[in-house]
Amino acid sequence: MVITRYAPSPTGEPHIGNIRTAIFAWLFARSKAGKFYLRIEDTDKEREKPGSIEAILDSLEWLELDFDDPASANSAITYRTNYPKIVFQSDRLEIYREYAHQLVADGYAYVCDCSSERLGKLRESQISAKLPPMYDGHCREFKNQKSNFNNCVIRLKIPRDGQTKFVDLIRGEVSFENQLIDDQVLLKSDGYPTYHLANVVDDHLMGVTHVIRAEEWLPSTPKHLILYQYFNWPSPSFAHLPMILGNDKSKLSKRHGAVAALDYRRQGYLPEVMFNYLSLLGWHPGGDQEIFNRGEVIDQFELNRVQKSPAIFDQNKLDWLNGVYLRNLAPHELWTKLVSYSEQFDADQAAWLKQFTGERAVMLVQLVQERLRKLSEFKELTNYLSNLPDYASEMLIFKKSDANSIKKALQTSVQIFDALPEPEFTAENVTAKLNAVIADESYQIGVLLHPLRVALTGLKNSPGPQETAAVLGKEESLRRINLALAKLA
Ligand code: GLU
Repeated sequence: MVITRYAPSPTGEPHIGNIRTAIFAWLFARSKAGKFYLRIEDTDKEREKPGSIEAILDSLEWLELDFDDPASANSAITYRTNYPKIVFQSDRLEIYREYAHQLVADGYAYVCDCSSERLGKLRESQISAKLPPMYDGHCREFKNQKSNFNNCVIRLKIPRDGQTKFVDLIRGEVSFENQLIDDQVLLKSDGYPTYHLANVVDDHLMGVTHVIRAEEWLPSTPKHLILYQYFNWPSPSFAHLPMILGNDKSKLSKRHGAVAALDYRRQGYLPEVMFNYLSLLGWHPGGDQEIFNRGEVIDQFELNRVQKSPAIFDQNKLDWLNGVYLRNLAPHELWTKLVSYSEQFDADQAAWLKQFTGERAVMLVQLVQERLRKLSEFKELTNYLSNLPDYASEMLIFKKSDANSIKKALQTSVQIFDALPEPEFTAENVTAKLNAVIADESYQIGVLLHPLRVALTGLKNSPGPQETAAVLGKEESLRRINLALAKLA
């Protein structure tokens, strides 16, 4: 049975790259009918930020990444009552201590009481000699197995020679020279484990079969493999996911816009779009399909199709994809999403939407659905309906026509609008009447429709004038056309 896990540290809202890791680990488990666990790696109290746990859970829930119960496989795993199924490392300090002490007893780790001053000097001298900064093994050979570990750390005894090799499921064989691996601290002087010890102990106790994580952890893996060997535990398989870079090929950061997964929710991207997009960030099943639903991704996901080279986060592509998904929604579905998004994240837009109900709401959606790329853009795209932008009279003139013919065209529109009684003032009827005068060759399409569009919207690019007129209503449409005529006077 495949078991994967997502092991975030609670250092803030999860970064988009971190969530991509969660997605890949989840996908691998789901594609193999395995299990996916959530473990909070909260042993570094200094880096912890309040609210992180909720943000992690929110991100997972938003993207529908459900996790399983590790206690069903190992009854020694217990939970906090308010967080079922989630393993918190800070609840397990005693376990890590015992394992660290066992390693010391077995001669695989040693107690080190070097002062921070000594370590600081050592580091400086190594840096100035252009050597990689690492512990020099000062305490390693002492037969110092003190019974009192106070103010000491416990370090891993890395073999001095040879290599540590493994086959990464994405990168193939990876090899590290042992002499370049630091005698990693496993247990700090305050009794807290470091990432390395807690991570290995928990992956083992939780039965993790596949460690799927970001490339930045690759240099830690030989330390972990040595630990597995010392504990005499089978090691899981490893897959290190490619980095995510911005369009400018630098590491994805705040400079590229949003970085937290939840930022994308706040900006009006759909969760199914983020799932689709992030699944393709470093993985592709082949071919040129870009739009995948959840089931298709699960069916096709394979770690051996994950690329080694960095993945590029392309904001334009994401916007395009969000637009595609928005266009594919039925108008009433889109309306429901707009309302719930706005109520949660955009009070201004929520208030704007409240003015529209029933048929008018649907018409409003249809007006901009083709052009909408994010839920957050809706008010901006439809704002002209209540606030006609101030535009220059030249905007009314179509190509090579002149003010006079445009005036005539607008007057024709006035007549058409006037002749339609209010209940019949629909986009279809307006279209039919306008088409009739185009068909009898009184007007070229552009000469008739262009000034009407500008008059009704005040915008260069806007939805069709017929649909706009229907949403505005007869009276407001006529008022706007008359305003345009006044500009041309
Ligand atoms: N706590 C680590 C992180 O936040 C976990 C790395 C791993 O998956 O081993 O990235």
